[in-house]
Amino acid sequence: MESVPVLLLDGGFSNELNKRCSYNVDKESLWTAKALMTDAKAVTETHLEYLKAGADIIETATYQATTRGLQESLGLSPIECEELIANSVKLAENAVSQYKSLQDDNFFSRQDKVKPAKLPIIAGSIGPYGVYLHDGSEYSGKYMDKVTEEDIIDMHSKRLEVLINSNVDILAIETMPSLSEVEMILRFLQSRSVNAKVWVSFNLQENDPSRTAYGDYVTDAFQTVSKYSNVLGFGTNCINPKNVGPFLKLVSQAKAEAKSDIKLIVYPNVGKTWIPGQGWSEEDVPLIETYAKEWLELGANIIGGCCQVGPDEIRKLRDIVDDWNNLRGKI
Ligand SMILES: [Zn+2]
Repeated sequence: MESVPVLLLDGGFSNELNKRCSYNVDKESLWTAKALMTDAKAVTETHLEYLKAGADIIETATYQATTRGLQESLGLSPIECEELIANSVKLAENAVSQYKSLQDDNFFSRQDKVKPAKLPIIAGSIGPYGVYLHDGSEYSGKYMDKVTEEDIIDMHSKRLEVLINSNVDILAIETMPSLSEVEMILRFLQSRSVNAKVWVSFNLQENDPSRTAYGDYVTDAFQTVSKYSNVLGFGTNCINPKNVGPFLKLVSQAKAEAKSDIKLIVYPNVGKTWIPGQGWSEEDVPLIETYAKEWLELGANIIGGCCQVGPDEIRKLRDIVDDWNNLRGKI
């Protein structure tokens, strides 16, 4: 049996940031990353909101913060871009210290019980190459047919280096459509002898959660990625929550067969449809928390939310995770 408690990740950053930001996040080509320059206070407040909701792990607002994107959209110098990315970690750290100052002694005794995890954890968000193109191709990975490994690494390397040097606890290589892009990033880290801890999370096909958005089998992706000793987590994000169970069945089996101790991490979106030019659909969908117990039973070690999942849902997931950990004597 796993001896480490299940941890809770935060929810979608853009939806929560949008409530306190000076611009419309969904209409901005840099999405949440522009706020690192224009709305630093709102970034910290958004992190704090998720910490108050009970998140053990928060992610920096760097999903779309590539140095190339920041230079082109904000007219910054390379050094200024690096400073902005480094500052994203400071903004998350500020939220953690504000949050800790709000806690009572009970909080810290609970923290002691969940050691060795240092909580809250700050994860540096790394979105896929395709987000830079602003054409939705990050959801298909089609750009992988056209770009070279050099292009991919050129896009990712500086942000990776800056986040590592800023001492994030782990890198979240997330919403990745294709295994080959992930391998390029992992090889790059290896080539630099950087033993940075990472989790890798894929976006999946809507109609076939056994495949990444680009078409790789998730079991192949698990086998490939789990060979890298610095990969601590493997999972999926920004998919419909109904597809998380089928994904976990496949990956839990692959994990058992490989006798791997990689943590399985799942953080789907709210389950609505993104309509380009319009936003999220208004349809009624089952609440994310109705799925959560099934995910835990299927072996999820870290759960949370992606787009349109907010603090209210994270608070409900907190209760479910606490019940689960309590029953198993983990807290
Ligand atoms: Zn998302």
